[in-house]
Amino acid sequence: MDKCSFCGREKKETNLLIAGISGHICDRCIEQAFVIVQEELGNKTDFDISKLRLMKPQEIKQFLDLYVIGQDEAKRYISVAVYNHYKRLLQPTKDNDDVEIEKSNIVLVGETGTGKTLLARTIAKMLHVPFTIVDATVLTEAGYVGEDIESILTRLLQVADYNVEAAEKGIVFIDEIDKIARKGDNPSITRDVSGEGVQQGLLKLLEGAIVNVPPQGGRKHPDQKMIPVDTKNILFICGGAFDGIEKKIANRLNTKTVGYRANKDQDKIDTENLLQYIAPMDLKAFGLIPEIIGRLPILTYMHPLEEKALRRILTEPKNAIVKQYQKLFQIDGIDLSWDEKALNFVVEKAIEYKLGARGLRSICEAIMMDAMFEMPSTNTKEIKITEDYARNKMEKTNLKRLKVA
Ligand code: ADP
Repeated sequence: MDKCSFCGREKKETNLLIAGISGHICDRCIEQAFVIVQEELGNKTDFDISKLRLMKPQEIKQFLDLYVIGQDEAKRYISVAVYNHYKRLLQPTKDNDDVEIEKSNIVLVGETGTGKTLLARTIAKMLHVPFTIVDATVLTEAGYVGEDIESILTRLLQVADYNVEAAEKGIVFIDEIDKIARKGDNPSITRDVSGEGVQQGLLKLLEGAIVNVPPQGGRKHPDQKMIPVDTKNILFICGGAFDGIEKKIANRLNTKTVGYRANKDQDKIDTENLLQYIAPMDLKAFGLIPEIIGRLPILTYMHPLEEKALRRILTEPKNAIVKQYQKLFQIDGIDLSWDEKALNFVVEKAIEYKLGARGLRSICEAIMMDAMFEMPSTNTKEIKITEDYARNKMEKTNLKRLKVA
């Protein structure tokens, strides 16, 4: 009588009994074993710095190209910064010469929804290092309502499964760094709890210091055992929209965002896209303190996404939105395709309602909702999204629901 060699159930007590060379295994034991394998291997955070393969900048950029459309300048800057950062990290701690490669923290300036977070996330994916996103707006100076600066590292520790060594080589994306800019030029009139104080607090993290981190986050508590984390090798990527920074750039360039050019030198200035001239002093004019700027030596910018880029975002990235829907339907055995015109229509709507790249997804969702609800219960094997179909579904959509955060 065939039985499972693991639990002893007879064949008739199982749904499936698989024969091996000298034994059998039943479906239940396979499931249990699968869970064990998942727990042992799958969920373990595999952050092993010795496995880090140093990719050359061009390779890094090629990888970024798979996920992020356009933004070539930013990609080049980031590729070099990341390459140098990890080169520094793989250096023997004691070298004979006294040359110490400094950290290359990055600041990305660009409108929201242009791919700043996506870039940072993709870098982390490529490197298999712990990655976390924090919002600078929730940070406050110690002692005030809000989150302590150290909470940034709590998150990193958490994603690294409290593997301190791995966290110490991770990447932190600090979003909305522009929101902690100093308000006004005079720093000393009133205490600026959420601005300059936070910048001061961030300094030591960015520069590299041993920071005592509350493992569960929240406020520092005398009973909580702190975990010391060295931030020397953590790469910080800061992002912000820096609304209005074009004016500061224009002032510096001694030109105006609109109007006539004052002198010959400015003939070459492209006033339509002033961000490309961004320099550290513009960040200072915006209200970042010089010490912070000094610790974010790599400064680059993101282009606003135009029609062409939006259209490419729909279909080209490795996990492009359209590919995701195709995969969803594939699971039901349904072949989904989009007409070129339907895709253009999605882009048109995203531009019309100023929804940017984030809006592409909500528009597609509105178009696909009925099909996703109905089709799995039918025998349909093929769906083609035409412009008419897309338009029809959009007309039924409450546009207010498309607003993206
Ligand atoms: P940001 O951080 O600049 O506000 P995100 O990186 O969060 O913007 O972008 C929002 C979403 O828009 C991303 O998840 C992605 O789907 C899409 N997206 C934005 N920019 C790009 C881009 N350049 N290439 C591909 N997708 C993009």
